[in-house]
Amino acid sequence: MNLVKDDFIKAFSLYKEKALQHRRFKHRDILPLLENNKIHNELTVEEIGRSVEDRSIFRLKYGQGPIKVLLWSQMHGDEPTATMALFDLFNFFKGEEDGFDTFRKEIAEKLTLYFIPMLNPDGAERYQRRTAMDVDMNRDARAVATVEGALLKAQAMLLKPDFAFNLHNQNNYYNIPGTATPVTISLLAPAYDYARSVNTVRADAMRVIVGINKILQEFIPNAVAKYDDEHTPRGFGDNFQKWGASTILIESGAYAGDPEKLEVRKYNFIALLQAFLEIASGSYSEHDIADYNVIPFNDEKLHDVLIRNLSIEKNGKKMLVDVAIRQNEKTVVNDYFVEGVIEDIGDLRDFYGYTDLDVEGLQFIPAKLYTDRIFSLAELTLAMIGDLLKQGIGAIHIDSDESMGKLHSYPINISVDKQLLLEDMLLLGSRANFFIGTNQDIKYAVINGYLLNLMTNLPVQKCKNNIFSSTS
Ligand SMILES: [Zn+2]
Repeated sequence: MNLVKDDFIKAFSLYKEKALQHRRFKHRDILPLLENNKIHNELTVEEIGRSVEDRSIFRLKYGQGPIKVLLWSQMHGDEPTATMALFDLFNFFKGEEDGFDTFRKEIAEKLTLYFIPMLNPDGAERYQRRTAMDVDMNRDARAVATVEGALLKAQAMLLKPDFAFNLHNQNNYYNIPGTATPVTISLLAPAYDYARSVNTVRADAMRVIVGINKILQEFIPNAVAKYDDEHTPRGFGDNFQKWGASTILIESGAYAGDPEKLEVRKYNFIALLQAFLEIASGSYSEHDIADYNVIPFNDEKLHDVLIRNLSIEKNGKKMLVDVAIRQNEKTVVNDYFVEGVIEDIGDLRDFYGYTDLDVEGLQFIPAKLYTDRIFSLAELTLAMIGDLLKQGIGAIHIDSDESMGKLHSYPINISVDKQLLLEDMLLLGSRANFFIGTNQDIKYAVINGYLLNLMTNLPVQKCKNNIFSSTS
């Protein structure tokens, strides 16, 4: 009994939870969804505890089978992609007469699934990794000093799951070794000792991963990797493995053009559904561990922007360098702004950029602040900004801080005071604002880490500039 590629696509499109559409959803956003699940007989919802800041932590249960599976998501508050996929799965379990009934029946008869979505609701509130006590819960499996970590361990001891799924996000800069392809999903059967031994518990986790990888390859060929397998004695995954649950780490990674990770979420849904079906049918046990071992490990050689062969100069000495830029996110309430920073300068030919450009023959040109006059927002047009950029102007002043939110989409730094700092040379760790061209002609602008081609139309909607920090 198998689902094929089209079945997974159909299941996801039927059951994706439409209320969750961006990464910065909060505990209060999932409460009504949980309430909604309570009225269905198939799923039971139970509060198992409360966070330090008194937010409820829930466990949902599906099925009555002998094989127990425990899944938890978002023990790191800023890693929400799997939480979205869990709500998609809950919707799937509530469905009927859609062609999937026999699959649901098989899962419910063979498995008892326990889900703990958003284990760190206080972290999710701030969109931060750590708990409200500023502790990394995934380094607390040994001490279990955090309220939330203790809850998870108590569930492990109470339920004694046969399988466990530890659901996280990894950063956007992991690539498949030797390629510019970002890792969309990485998987791991965590090691329970420093020798990375393989007992039957861990071997079964590896076999489940082989099954997950097989289906994912149909969707995202060559975008699946293994996460670093070094033993971390304080980590929950490693300890669950040690406690006897075949434990699978799933890290949601990156997919180009998917900043809110809605595609990545779909692959989470598919990976988990495939795993449930394989565990329920026992088909995972036929997989070969050699197929786990050949999955490549994550490499970490991606940047947001890579500019190659840029000519720079100091004291009359010239050199050619590659420049790596990161577009770092700064959370502000339910949104974020970007801070573009120079991440590396030098020989970066082994690295890759989501935006990757060779500018051989062109030189670094410092960005200038326009001081002749103050602009008003009403008069600012894209054409005007384009003209300013072509003159090497990287920043302007405006007359008021009204409509601040709107300013983030302009492809130029906009400041309401005079303190804006623009470096006159490439400087590691500084804000990425400069131009690229010849003595006669400016061809590209780098504005707050975004590379803009001044020979074409400006991509205004892509920018999320951070005016708040551009003034400090
Ligand atoms: Zn994590």
